[in-house]
Amino acid sequence: MTTHDIRTDDAVYKTLLESTRAIPWKIDWATMQFAYVGPQIEELLGWAPESWATVQDWAERMHPEDRQWAVDFCVAQSMAGVDHEADYRALCSNGDYVWIRDVVHVVRNDDGTVNSLIGFMFDISERKKTEEKLLAMQRELEELSFKDGLTNVANRRRFDQVMDAAWERARNQREPIALLMIDIDYFKQYNDRYGHLAGDDCLRRVASVLTQAAARPNDLLARIGGEEFAMLLPGTSASGAAGVAEHCRQLLKEAQILHGPSPMGRLTASIGVGAITPEAGDNWVSLLDRVDRRLYAAKQAGRDRMIDTDPATV
Ligand code: GH3
Ligand code: MG
Ligand code: MG
Repeated sequence: MTTHDIRTDDAVYKTLLESTRAIPWKIDWATMQFAYVGPQIEELLGWAPESWATVQDWAERMHPEDRQWAVDFCVAQSMAGVDHEADYRALCSNGDYVWIRDVVHVVRNDDGTVNSLIGFMFDISERKKTEEKLLAMQRELEELSFKDGLTNVANRRRFDQVMDAAWERARNQREPIALLMIDIDYFKQYNDRYGHLAGDDCLRRVASVLTQAAARPNDLLARIGGEEFAMLLPGTSASGAAGVAEHCRQLLKEAQILHGPSPMGRLTASIGVGAITPEAGDNWVSLLDRVDRRLYAAKQAGRDRMIDTDPATV
């Protein structure tokens, strides 16, 4: 016999519906009442199926930040007769929230008007957690890629990036931009005397000392080479930059980092200083070159000093 036993089918459908992890539901469009909610909802959210009476209950059991757009979106799509899905945080009876993906199918009457909505709610909290973890890791990685691993200050990559932007801004605003190149004196001897690990510690200390001199919000200290730092000072004039360089030296002096083999007896640095108000066609590499030459001149002149003028040419 091939007759269709509809009651058997109903039982099968019901068993299937209520044993999946997705939660089935149906809303009658005319009354905006729930015609059905799978019993699984109670296990997931803690609210008994009978407590889901109207769409109002659905809207109220939603995170306040998601409610407005989720309700507006679902109502608009339903009115337009378009199948849709929405992710939102559903409120549990214990006050927690669970990320839900609601997949909605619009059932129409023969005349095309909306008859009802049927759908499935999926628990996507695990997926959301993974997504959030991935995003956090991505942010962390991005941050790390701009940091010097030893000293935790900005690295060369970051310096270049910030310099590009600061240069552009200085040119547009017709503001000066200043640069310091700071190189530790006799650092090879420091390593030779105290060991490479002590050398690493020393670099960390120097970085933290110099950070104090880069005091304005847009100042940037970067480690751009082994024992070489650059300090970018947007909006700072030549004389202001010279003052910052002297402050760096002063702070290093106060730090009193013992350096036996150095003629100064303590750790010192030489600093090249320059500032410019960039014009169209100027390139920051030329400022870097000029400051680098002044740093070299400071080394030649005996170290532990800053130089902010070009060496006289003969
Ligand atoms: P100057 O006064 O002319 O600057 O001499 P200097 O010895 O400081 O300069 P030089 O360029 O000859 O040597 C730099 C030394 O810095 C070489 C290297 O041993 C040390 N150095 C570079 N990077 C690191 C690092 O990451 N950790 C440690 N511990 N030492 C480093
Ligand atoms: Mg050097
Ligand atoms: Mg050096």
